[in-house]
This record gives sequence, C-alpha cells and structure tokens, in this order.
Amino acid sequence: MTEVDQFSVPTERASARMDWLLECSACERSSDPQGLPTVCPDCGQPWLVCYPARRHPPEGRSLLGRRSTGEADTLSQRMWRYRRFLPLLPGEAPVSLGEGGTPLLELDRSARDLGLGKVWLKDESTNPSGSFKARGLAMAMTRAVAGGAESFVIPTAGNAGVALAVYAAKVGRPATVFAPTATPGTILAQIRAFGAELKLIDGHIGDCGRAARELSVRTGAFDLSTLREPYRIEGKKTLGLELAEQFGWTLPDAIIYPAGGGTGLIGMWRAFRELQTAGWLQGQFPRLFAVQSSGCAPVVRAVETGADRCEPWADPRTVASGLLVPNPLGGALMLRAIRETSGGAVAVSDSDLEHEASTTSRREGVDLSPEGGATFAAARQLRSSGHLSSEHRVILFNTGAGWLYRGGQ
Ligand SMILES: *Cc1c(COP(=O)(O)O)cnc(C)c1O
Repeated sequence: MTEVDQFSVPTERASARMDWLLECSACERSSDPQGLPTVCPDCGQPWLVCYPARRHPPEGRSLLGRRSTGEADTLSQRMWRYRRFLPLLPGEAPVSLGEGGTPLLELDRSARDLGLGKVWLKDESTNPSGSFKARGLAMAMTRAVAGGAESFVIPTAGNAGVALAVYAAKVGRPATVFAPTATPGTILAQIRAFGAELKLIDGHIGDCGRAARELSVRTGAFDLSTLREPYRIEGKKTLGLELAEQFGWTLPDAIIYPAGGGTGLIGMWRAFRELQTAGWLQGQFPRLFAVQSSGCAPVVRAVETGADRCEPWADPRTVASGLLVPNPLGGALMLRAIRETSGGAVAVSDSDLEHEASTTSRREGVDLSPEGGATFAAARQLRSSGHLSSEHRVILFNTGAGWLYRGGQ
C-alpha cells in the first residue's frame, strides 16, 4: 500500500493539539495521528491509540462526568464522561446521539438457572441504532469528520451498517453499506430508513470488505471497517470504563463477550489496562471469555490449537450475524487479551444460542439478540465444564436488540 492509501485525505486541521499517538499492534512503527489514519503502512496491522501525555490522578474518578454550567449533555455524559481516556481535544464536541450509559442488570434468576454465584447483564440494546456498535462509530465518526472525510463506506454483518447509517445522517454526509444478502431483513430496513445506500452482496462480511475497499479506493469514501481505522476501538473501550465505574472500580471474576471482529473484547482489555496503570482499578483483572457460534469460530479454534493468530473459517454460517466474521483482522489481539487474562473461548450451536435468547427474554424481560443469547449458552457450557463455578461472579453481554433480528423487510 502506498502512503496515499494510508492517509487518503490529509488535513492540517487540529492535528497540532492531538495529544495521542498511534502505535502498531504488530510491529515497532508509531505515528502521529494526522489526517485520516487507517492501518500500519509497514505491516498492514491495526493501529492502537496511546496517550503518553495523559495523567489520571486518583481524584479524577470523582470528576467523571462533571460538566460546567451550560455545557452540552453530549460533551460529558454517558460514554463521553470518559473523555479523558478518549481521542478528543479539550472541549471538542463529539458526534453523539447519546451513546453508552447502558443498564447493568443483576439477574438473580439467571444466576440460579446457570448455577453461578452472580450474573450481571450489560444491556447494550438501549444504545442509539439498537446495538453497541454506536459506541465505536460515534467515536470513529467524530475523528473522521475532524480529519476531513466527506463520505463513508462500511462492510457489515448487520448492526455496524445501522450505526453508520445513523451517524452519517447525523453529520449529513453520504454513506454506503455493503451487507450480505442473508442479513436479517429488519436490520436492512433500518439501514435504508436512515438514508444510507445499501448494497447487498451474495457472500459474507469478508466479501463485503473487499467491495468496501474497492469503493473507497475509487471514490475516496472513508472506510470504517473494524480495525481498519484506529478509533472505533477507542469508542468500544468505554464498555470497560463504564463497567469499571458501575462496579465501583472492582470488577467481578469473568466477562463473557460475543466476539466477531473483537473490538469490544480488545477495547475492554485496553480499558482495564489503562485503568490499572492509572491506579483506578482495585483487585484482580477479570478473565475475558469469547463466545462464537460453532458455525463460525476462528477465535475458538485458535485458542484450542494454541495458535497466535486466527486462520480464516471456511463456509461461515450463523444466525447471530454479529458473529459472522470468518477472518477477523483483530484475531491476534483477541488471542492476546484472552491469554493474558487467563480467559478462554467457547463455541455454542445456533440452536443453543437462539434457545437461550428466547428463554432469557421470557425469564428476565430483556430483549436478547442471538449474540446476547450466546453469552448465556457459553456461561452454561463453562459452568458444566468446570471453568466457572457456583462461586463465580460473571458479566454477560446483550450487545444488540433482539427486535432487529425479527420480522421482515
Ligand atoms: C458486531 C456485533 C458483535 C460482535 O462485535 P465485535 O466487536 O465485532 O466483536 C456482537 N453482537 C452484536 C449484536 C453485534 O452487532
């Protein structure tokens, strides 16, 4: 790739004040965050954002979310209360529709049913666009607009396309979404409803990714694919920051996360590390478990074989479209997060994850997506294999709203 590909729309705007750096996740390269960064030009691997100049004194915890008189809600509330950990300039207003600040529900009946000490559900279905993709795309859109991007493109297995459509509408710029024809009809209808141009591809998200890159090269549309720009993952970091604050800065034993591209898993891992370095987090680091569908489980296979990167999964299939990522660019990072935290990875069948989604919705009144159901199926499996016990306190995730998977176009 040429330098022009890496920073396709150079701009001087605001760059002098950006107090963060991009460090390659795989090689030694680092870079200033000018223009519209994509991936490391030397090795093609994702950038990670580092903040060497930021300090987080202990009293900072009580200053979170404090707003000055008349300051807009979006500047300092919900996920933006963690702005000191995010790639924002002082006083800079993010592109926001009110992301984050989602409920952490303590589910006693589910804990009994699963045979675990305690179970909490982080319910991300209440985000704008109906899934936690909003956190990443609000952050990425903020930086992309500041960097001069005029139009956008994304490949999606579903919810990232809705989130892009929503934020492109918010900033009044055109967006193109490439999605597999097999994507749930309601998700496709939502993408269209917010005015994005929807292009259906007879294939999986990898095929959509190729089409998106081709369009990006041809038209200059900025590609917001998972980990092909560094800021979606920074937005997802707020999952970890928010959990830490909701738990009073001492996290439970384990977190089970439905992994597709892995931004949430990698984001939480980085968030907890930043909090630990700052001295804000007490106690042990939670073990991070990834759950995938047995119809598309490249991370589970790599964990089982001890590999340090994922091999592409042939013929991927699952109803949990967020998990339909056969060759995740962040594979090596997910594996590091899992191993460093003594976590693990489990595959569950589609019938199990759908069954858990529907029984949990009825038991708890929460609108579980298939991906959310997968975390319950994984908890049950980890309990019966002895990896989790009746003593353990566990966080499960409902990453998106179940209604998006029901009904037709
Ligand atoms: C995208 C998505 C996932 C997977 O998230 P990654 O960050 O790609 O791992 C899980 N659940 C839902 C509902 C999603 O939309």
